[in-house]
Amino acid sequence: MTALHLRGVVLPGDDERDLWIVNGRVRTKPVPGAETVVDGGYLLPGFVDAHCHIGIGPQGPVDLDTAAEQAVADRDAGALLLRDCGSPTDTTPLQERLDLPRIVRAGRHIARPKRYIPHLGVDVGDPEQLPAAVAEQAANGDGWVKLVGDWIDRDRGDLAPLWPDEVLAEAIAVAHAAGARVTAHVFGEEALPGLINAGIDCIEHGTGLSTDVIAEMARRGTALVPTLINIENFPGIAAKATKYPAYASHMVDLHARAGSMVAEAIEAGVPVYAGTDAGGGIAHGRIVDEIIALHRAGMSTENAIAAGSWGARAWLGWSALEEGSAADVLAFDDDPRKDLEVLRGPKRIILRGRIVG
Ligand SMILES: [Zn+2]
Repeated sequence: MTALHLRGVVLPGDDERDLWIVNGRVRTKPVPGAETVVDGGYLLPGFVDAHCHIGIGPQGPVDLDTAAEQAVADRDAGALLLRDCGSPTDTTPLQERLDLPRIVRAGRHIARPKRYIPHLGVDVGDPEQLPAAVAEQAANGDGWVKLVGDWIDRDRGDLAPLWPDEVLAEAIAVAHAAGARVTAHVFGEEALPGLINAGIDCIEHGTGLSTDVIAEMARRGTALVPTLINIENFPGIAAKATKYPAYASHMVDLHARAGSMVAEAIEAGVPVYAGTDAGGGIAHGRIVDEIIALHRAGMSTENAIAAGSWGARAWLGWSALEEGSAADVLAFDDDPRKDLEVLRGPKRIILRGRIVG
């Protein structure tokens, strides 16, 4: 394969630099015979969608061909590294396709019977079996395990935690011993302290975060992926939940507080990353919408881009555009820090050193 040459201002930073790409890696020293494919403008590492679901569609689980189409939609929006936050479909065959984004899989959601969307996760009958279920999903995934932390309890008529606090510390320790990190879906307030005090690595959505819990996350370095564009669906979820008025009004209240909660988390220094929750109620390919939503919630334009690019890559164990980095690159004519809408139109998308858009 011909070596590629790119010249542009490399973000984060303000210096115009030359980069070369050989065998899927970034090089910082000239490579003879390289073909110049970008000359001027701005270069940044591919977007990260830190919360999406390859293998889940609006009606639930999808086949592998449909899952591949979802990954293509993400790729074409510039999302070249995906943290899959739970999928019923085994997408490992897609990881071998060089034309698809890199997928960091969390295995299947771990839930309890009747306490999550049907057919998506594995159901644990006895909560005491959570550590064993975590061990199994840690072995199946790529370094992440996804718990359902809370969900509607129809007997109670409102959100409620799925797991007793006592079992969480052991379950999370099991994952850590296996080299995996743990995250949890949490909408309400009640499940959060138990998960965070048990040493969980990340919270998804986190709409019920209070000032005290945010401070504890900041102290521990627990990450937050708020999926702001999915929280926009809460009023719609509430409108359909006519049988459960307490739940419905709780969801409306959580939605109303989401913007100020995320602003407070950013201000407190919680690491916040961009994730769309694409898969069920959200279409794939919307990472830029989430980056813009994080900016609206209080991040500077540069920090919002970082939350969906180099910052999230570092969090997941991938470097930015340095010597030896994976050659996942987006090129733009204009500086996206001045206008985030620029991010919608990369002039080049390079994935694993190949031009894909
Ligand atoms: Zn999700």
